[in-house]
Amino acid sequence: MLSVVVPCYNEVEVLAHTHARLSQVLAALAGFECEQIYVDDGSSDGTWEAVNALARTSGSVRAVRLSRNFGHQAACLAGLRESAGDAVVVIDADLQDPPELIPDMAALWREGWSVVSARRRARDGETWFKKASAYAFYRLLNTLSDHALALDTGDFRLLDRELVDLLASTPDKNLYLRGAVSWFGLPETSVTYDRDPRHAGESKYTLRKMLALSRRGLLAGSVAPLRLSTYLGTAVLAGGLAAATVRRDPRLLARPGAFGAHALALGIVGEYLHAVFRQVQGRPDYVIADRVGAPGALAPAPHPLAEKERVAL
Ligand code: UDP
Ligand code: MG
Repeated sequence: MLSVVVPCYNEVEVLAHTHARLSQVLAALAGFECEQIYVDDGSSDGTWEAVNALARTSGSVRAVRLSRNFGHQAACLAGLRESAGDAVVVIDADLQDPPELIPDMAALWREGWSVVSARRRARDGETWFKKASAYAFYRLLNTLSDHALALDTGDFRLLDRELVDLLASTPDKNLYLRGAVSWFGLPETSVTYDRDPRHAGESKYTLRKMLALSRRGLLAGSVAPLRLSTYLGTAVLAGGLAAATVRRDPRLLARPGAFGAHALALGIVGEYLHAVFRQVQGRPDYVIADRVGAPGALAPAPHPLAEKERVAL
């Protein structure tokens, strides 16, 4: 079974088109039973009425309404938790992510890939600010991140059930979905596509929401900002020490010494905070990818004599 999760925030203008295009693609997808799950993220424009009507008239559509606007990541997570498919695709409601890619993603999943991301090659109809900030942010995050991330991808991707269950059970209250997906380290591949302009309406990702998402990404994926204080303190202390030694004047160490000690102390607190943060994030210690040999397989085989005695009895 394949589930398609569609987070929707004030998308009433596009929903009928989205449902029609998705349904057409899914109907042609051989060998899969499909469900579409529309998550209304606290819309105020009739989105709920529209998805409600879709769910009533189509047996393969389900609709979920969040009590208020919790944001895109929460809406995706709600959809993942609602889904029942062996594979789950998360796709934007505005048709910027073409549903026609789903068959390719499903084929790669059948080949054994746990994650199939859709990587953006071109982004038509988006402002230069959005394109430039996204380009720079993904690269910055990848440099700072403690693990490799898929570049130029949003949340349009297919996930295997194993990963959906891992994500759905995470206690992380600041989940950055696209980063967390890579963290688990399961086999990941991508398809590339040209991102279409929005079918209708305007972007629901305000600058504030974009900043909140990037903050999440940085906090969840990287310890670098916390370590800034340690690096700064060490650099200032070393600079002061060098200046005092070269000029043979210990007074030159007074100011950098005081500043450096403060920054280093902050850095130490930061390390403990980081340890607590990781604990609270509650990710598993590791994910086992494969195992050869069943548990107990190395137990001693029964003695041949014992077998003979059993037969004789
Ligand atoms: N969205 C959501 N909650 C929000 C903001 C956006 O569920 O608070 C949904 C939105 O309806 C769309 C997807 O997230 O399906 C991506 O949003 P949008 O297209 O506005 O972002 P952009 O493509 O401009 O980055
Ligand atoms: Mg969009």
